[in-house]
Amino acid sequence: MASLVRVLMMLLVAGCALSVFFQLTQTRHLATTWSTHDLLLLKFPAAVKANPNNKNNNKKNNNNKNKKNAVPSESPASEPKSAKFSPAPRKDGHKGKTVVVIIPFRDRDLHLTLFKKYWRWFARHGRENLTVQRWEVFVSEQFDSTPFNRGWVFNVAFAVASGQLNASPEVTGAAGIDFDCAAIQDIDYLPEKGVDYGECEVPIQLSSEIDRYDWKTPYLKFAGAVVGMSLTHWRQINGFANNYVGWGGEDDDLFQRLRLNNLLYGDCYPWCEDPGLLAFLFGGDPNIGKLGLSIKRPKIGSGRFSGKLMHGANHTKRITDGKAYDANVVQMKAMERGDSRWKTDGLSSLAFRIVDHAVDTTDREEFGITYHHIRAKQGKDPFDVRLVPMAIPPGFCAGKLGRAEASSVPGGWVVRRLGSPGQQQQQRQQRQQQQEQGEQQQQEEERFPWELKDLRLRAASWALAADVGTASGCPGAESATFLLIDRRRQLAKVFTDEDPRLLLIFLGSMQNPLLDGLIVADPRSKADLRRAFKNAHAFADPPTEYSVCTSISREEGGPQKYRIYQGSACAAGDSELVRGGVWKAYARDRPGVEAVTFCDNEKHGVQKVVYGASCPKEWANLEWVFGDTFYVPKHAPGGKVFCVGSRERYQEDMSFSRLLPTADCSGDGFRHEFNFGSVVDTPALASMVVCIGRDGSGRRSRVSTGKQCSQDGFMEKGHFAARRAAEASSSDTIFCVTSDGSSDVIQESAGGKCGGLRTDNMLQKISSRDITMTFAVPTVAPELAVSQAEPEELMTRTQVCLGSPPNAEGAKILALGSECSRLKDTKLLFQVPSLLEIAASTPYANEEGISGPPLFVLVEEEVKCFGFLCPNILQ
Ligand code: BGC
Repeated sequence: MASLVRVLMMLLVAGCALSVFFQLTQTRHLATTWSTHDLLLLKFPAAVKANPNNKNNNKKNNNNKNKKNAVPSESPASEPKSAKFSPAPRKDGHKGKTVVVIIPFRDRDLHLTLFKKYWRWFARHGRENLTVQRWEVFVSEQFDSTPFNRGWVFNVAFAVASGQLNASPEVTGAAGIDFDCAAIQDIDYLPEKGVDYGECEVPIQLSSEIDRYDWKTPYLKFAGAVVGMSLTHWRQINGFANNYVGWGGEDDDLFQRLRLNNLLYGDCYPWCEDPGLLAFLFGGDPNIGKLGLSIKRPKIGSGRFSGKLMHGANHTKRITDGKAYDANVVQMKAMERGDSRWKTDGLSSLAFRIVDHAVDTTDREEFGITYHHIRAKQGKDPFDVRLVPMAIPPGFCAGKLGRAEASSVPGGWVVRRLGSPGQQQQQRQQRQQQQEQGEQQQQEEERFPWELKDLRLRAASWALAADVGTASGCPGAESATFLLIDRRRQLAKVFTDEDPRLLLIFLGSMQNPLLDGLIVADPRSKADLRRAFKNAHAFADPPTEYSVCTSISREEGGPQKYRIYQGSACAAGDSELVRGGVWKAYARDRPGVEAVTFCDNEKHGVQKVVYGASCPKEWANLEWVFGDTFYVPKHAPGGKVFCVGSRERYQEDMSFSRLLPTADCSGDGFRHEFNFGSVVDTPALASMVVCIGRDGSGRRSRVSTGKQCSQDGFMEKGHFAARRAAEASSSDTIFCVTSDGSSDVIQESAGGKCGGLRTDNMLQKISSRDITMTFAVPTVAPELAVSQAEPEELMTRTQVCLGSPPNAEGAKILALGSECSRLKDTKLLFQVPSLLEIAASTPYANEEGISGPPLFVLVEEEVKCFGFLCPNILQ
């Protein structure tokens, strides 16, 4: 009895101690998320850059063997190309195992190239010494603009690999793979020789010795990085949770899934050798840790993973979101208490659509590796990027745009969807047939043009097929750029070689590819396009939002720290936004602004903010490294005023700056240093988006710009491109939006002025106070030469009308398109420009454009945001 009590006591102590320890690891990590400098400088070991075909390079590689940073001599970089490796059966006659390796992926193209190169080397050693014969590597890419969700992305590929039919209509039984083990694999941790992916009798954390954690795991209960399991076990734990958004926690949730399913077969390794920790955790008895406390880990020396090859490669900033992480921790804590949510959240509740699935068999014969690159979108709704239309202007192939020049070359506009609907289905069937015939290589022409070069080829082939090429083919396509227009905002960016992922981000940001996007091909350079749009008042390079956050100090009496972030939210879980602490600044220098720089002290996670563009190396006996510079006006003409003050103290972590939305930063030991103002930048742009919304009763309409049509109980019914009244061209009609305080209506102006009686209430006169906005639409369709428009809807205009809803007679509401025919006493107000007209409004260098200023705005953002456009852009 006494011993039972002792065991219970110890388990209790161990439980508490582990959770304390967990919290410690949390805090430790969160401290590192303070660092805005996740961007490591690109520094390749010479051996990786070298061409393995080049003998001299090989010699150089071998010389590098003992140098720091050089890859081991058996690494892929030093492997001679001639060493062919055919998938011979193992000597013992055993066929060898099939392993599915799933890489959660987004925006790491360079890493993927390095990974593939490395895996050739690894597969070779894997097959010589270990149990794996066949690798089915799934690169699983999250195709949207929401924060990365590692667990969900794993589940998607797992469902495809295992042929889980209910997860997505795109999953077919035939695509399923008969595998022995499936592992989650982070792209930036590479296994050393000796790691056996074919071992998964019980769930195992293959990466038990990671270089960045001192060749250990970061903590005993860690179930992150590379974990392998059988199909049965992955299914038993219901895969990963689908709703851990952003960085962190999903692997701790996985640990709990294993625990709740009695699948922890590990002992205290690699923590057994730490007597201090064990004493702390288990009251000094090292044996207590050996009873299934952790996930199983391989024997010492067989779980080595290194990130050095990858972490040296440039990668995008990791985007963390404090709020999301806090939510993740809440979910995970519930799991710790035994919550059964895991049963309903995971593989069983998975729903996705596959946007693209490419199979690459280049390394199959020689190395046994097949790559599956999947791009997937969350949810059940159909999503087909092939519905996005692309327009090619006349004169494109000749490289001569504009009314005068284009008239000297034959042909007109070509406007088509990137693929025809149903093609996806057809391709799937084809792929299935190919797979069944053992021939997985995809045909070049059926691939979606994801890359700039493919899009150029597609544009050239359409133009030539529509006979608008020149005698020498389509030279205009060779270095063509593409305007990617987000039609929800009528804002465009130029797709060039500079940012090869822009097309992916653009398409991924869409909700409805049929309505939300338009691509316009253009033979001009980015600089030429910028000039043309600038001249037409349709170019913006808006400022970026920055914010100052303050720590919610966990330790009593700890100093209140301040930290600056790009964006309008705090990126770490233990900080909150200073009230009013968001300002606009440019990320690059320009006339009329001054540089302000924030510098980091990495030891204490504090910042020093300075005037100017560089950081002091040392201040207050601390070392400072450059964080980032932003550019703001010295005085704040009409904008908000901010102040910067610094405090120098004997106690090291008390010396830092603060930035506040007030005029004076002195107080609390801080000395006021300088002020700056928020950038005020409201360019007068030529075009705008007008939306029409309706309230729940169906009797009231709202007309506005931006998002307001879906606020205060209103729902957006549609939107259209228009010009600002001040930029109206001669063929435009100016309209006014008037409001009686409850419902809005659109009135045609007379000679640019709105007056008379309201169209929806003939008894009421309009006063200037009722007018909420004005806009102009080209009521006369421009004459455009068209060589091909497919389907014809791409050329048709949408009508905007006023009428009475059948169930609410007497009320007059605004409607668009087909809804107009369902109203009574319908009055057509005007027609809005077609898709082709929007494309054709692209400005040319020497003239005003075909029919007035452009119906969309070209934007260049100085910093990268998560989606296609930064939040709050141009607001
Ligand atoms: C996070 C995990 C992460 C681990 C190691 C924990 O705080 O919750 O998701 O893998 O730290 O960085």
